[in-house]
Amino acid sequence: AKKAGGGGFCFFDTRMRDSASTRLKEIEMLRHALRENQFVAYYQPIVNLSTEQIVKAEALVRWHHPQRGLVMPDEFIGLAEEIGLISEIDDWMFGEAVLCSKKFSALIDAPFQISVNKSALDFTNKVPTKNLAIYLASFKLDKGTICVEITESVLLNDSSIVIDKLAELQKAGIQLAIDDFGTGYASMSFLNKFKVDYLKIDRSFVQDMAANKDSRIFAETIIVMAHKLGLKVIAEGVETVGQRDLLKAAGCDYAQGYFFSRPVPLENFERLLQIIKT
Ligand code: C2E
Ligand code: CA
Ligand code: CA
Ligand code: CA
Repeated sequence: AKKAGGGGFCFFDTRMRDSASTRLKEIEMLRHALRENQFVAYYQPIVNLSTEQIVKAEALVRWHHPQRGLVMPDEFIGLAEEIGLISEIDDWMFGEAVLCSKKFSALIDAPFQISVNKSALDFTNKVPTKNLAIYLASFKLDKGTICVEITESVLLNDSSIVIDKLAELQKAGIQLAIDDFGTGYASMSFLNKFKVDYLKIDRSFVQDMAANKDSRIFAETIIVMAHKLGLKVIAEGVETVGQRDLLKAAGCDYAQGYFFSRPVPLENFERLLQIIKT
């Protein structure tokens, strides 16, 4: 397909070269962002559905690009994974989340849990489990103040490396959540073998619940199953009062979504918590 009729190497090749150099530029910008501290953690409240109080938060990364402004994770996480930068971003977010949970726990005078996302790639890399244990110990975590969200793709690979790493997180007092539950290859057998703390129902089901009976049955069934296995359920992407009510009626434990609050910067989140305190 390289030799275009008569014209030789024209448009196609030029575009290839352009996109390759654009890619190099993007890679360099991403590395630069990490060095220059351009990443920012936003926090989205997670409420207890029976009290409607904010009881946890999920930390979500944003990139404050000096020219492009606020860049959302979907625009750079993929590239960061491809070039092996995701672990450093996730580690940085982990540190932010720890600081933040310590700060919020002091503010409300009770342990406050922050969830962080961990790329599936982090579980298959070659970093020895021993190093992970030392790394985790350095944070002096209070039990239950950090939750690590993993996707079902991590569980697909139920190799001993993955199991060891998950077990090490738990040993450090970290809770585990399965993110986007229902969208991947739900590893029922894994759930049976390895005890996590939370299932997060993916927002595609939550948002269809009111209009689509199957989605509602699906969500309700996940909740019943999770409870029978001793797990708590967090619903994602709750945008309407109707969705909240359906989830509440189905016995869902926690919810997160624009209906309660969008992800916000640290200062704003502190203000949200202060409202609860007083
Ligand atoms: P996720 O872990 O499933 O995070 C939930 C996403 O849903 C967030 O998007 C959040 O802003 C959005 N969301 C929350 N409530 C609502 C709602 O009511 N309606 C709608 N439409 N959306 C809602 P965000 O922040 O853009 O993050 C997208 C994805 O990027 C995350 O999905 C996660 O997979 C990934 N991500 C974000 N931060 C990190 C990170 O620090 N590390 C890693 N590895 N991945 C991250
Ligand atoms: Ca998540
Ligand atoms: Ca999710
Ligand atoms: Ca997602």
